[in-house]
Amino acid sequence: MTLLDGLSGFEFEDAVSSLFRAHGYENVQVGTRVADEGRDITMYDGDTAYVVECKHTDTVSRPVVQKLHSAIATFDHDGPKRGMVVTSGRFTGPAEEYADRLRKRDDPHLIDLVDGRELRKLGEEVGMDLYNGRIEILCEETLPVGDPETVFVDVFEDVANAPSRADLPTPDYDVRYRPVVDVEAVTRATFETSVGVIHRIDRRDHLVVEADGPAPRLASDLVDLTGVETVNLETAQQRHGGEAVRFQHTESEYREWATDRLCDLLETTVTYTGDNNVTYHKDCRPSPNDVAVRRANPLYIPRVDAGVGLGEYTHNLEYAAAGNRYVTREDGIRRCVHCDTAGPEAAEYTYCENCGSISCATHTEEERLTGDPVCTGCAVTGDFFFATKYFFDEGNRETFREEYEAMPFYRKPLENPYLAAGVAVALVLVLLVLVGAFV
Ligand SMILES: [Zn+2]
Ligand SMILES: [Zn+2]
Repeated sequence: MTLLDGLSGFEFEDAVSSLFRAHGYENVQVGTRVADEGRDITMYDGDTAYVVECKHTDTVSRPVVQKLHSAIATFDHDGPKRGMVVTSGRFTGPAEEYADRLRKRDDPHLIDLVDGRELRKLGEEVGMDLYNGRIEILCEETLPVGDPETVFVDVFEDVANAPSRADLPTPDYDVRYRPVVDVEAVTRATFETSVGVIHRIDRRDHLVVEADGPAPRLASDLVDLTGVETVNLETAQQRHGGEAVRFQHTESEYREWATDRLCDLLETTVTYTGDNNVTYHKDCRPSPNDVAVRRANPLYIPRVDAGVGLGEYTHNLEYAAAGNRYVTREDGIRRCVHCDTAGPEAAEYTYCENCGSISCATHTEEERLTGDPVCTGCAVTGDFFFATKYFFDEGNRETFREEYEAMPFYRKPLENPYLAAGVAVALVLVLLVLVGAFV
């Protein structure tokens, strides 16, 4: 990873020339250093020569592009010649217009403009990480990953017959650090009409903005961030491994976005009655000036993808972590392996020691010999007194069969309580009929 912000102008030029070498340009050469002046890079693509001007600055204006254009004209090369201005920042409008105009009038010496964002893309294409604080947030803070085993033990509490912490194998897990910006803003606005103030906004809001995509978005099902201390990203990565997903924009871009979102969220239509007794509807939307962003904290939230192997199954859990607090994103524990029943509220789940599965109540039976829960997926069955009985294996079924054979005749019907009850009811009825007949 190369952090562009920390580079001097000369180091930036070196970074750019290795980038172009990696992109397959030939004979990439950095010119000799002339006092404070930047050095040109020259390079070739087939018989086309390129003269590249590097600017490690926030903005690049038109004179830079113009000066390069004259430099290309005097550059000694027989074939086609082109120019390129590469910056870690951005180009001003006039600089872009100048380059556009060259293209429109089919100038023989065209100039390509590569800004910080484009530069990052070019880097990604050849596996060079060019981190650049001018176009993205560089953040070193993450919420703690916590202990996946503790999370598993907690989720397993919802599962009957689940292995205890001591019997639970150590989970395998991967971590990805996802960027968010935690924004706090105060909005104050007053909406007035001829009848006076009809609506007032005075509130403090807390938004968490997901910053991993090209467009920011509000975080859904979020970990409660209050009171959670962040830790150093590198320290967390040393301990748990995992990549940090990059922020896509600068902090001020996220602030602006959050401000606009708040204006959307707080927009409302107010109905009021005018002096003339007519009912009016007025759209009350705060303006960005009504919103004051008090805080915009960039940080990472670890996304943990963990699995624990039990018997023939691996139970997976994907969650956003804030230490040992977590929000489940994919729950492979509270889910029946035999049907679609899933979710923490949906049903009872039972762990099957025999095969390691977790099943819903419908797919869980009692093992006839041991009395433990067993799932219908792995159990072997046997019919006893017209009732289906479930066993861990054929051995248990055999053992029970022997017990059954040895039972006194009046105990056997208890293997089928429904049938036994039915028979009892029938007997009583017969008795009543008989008694009735004799009275
Ligand atoms: Zn089920
Ligand atoms: Zn089972």
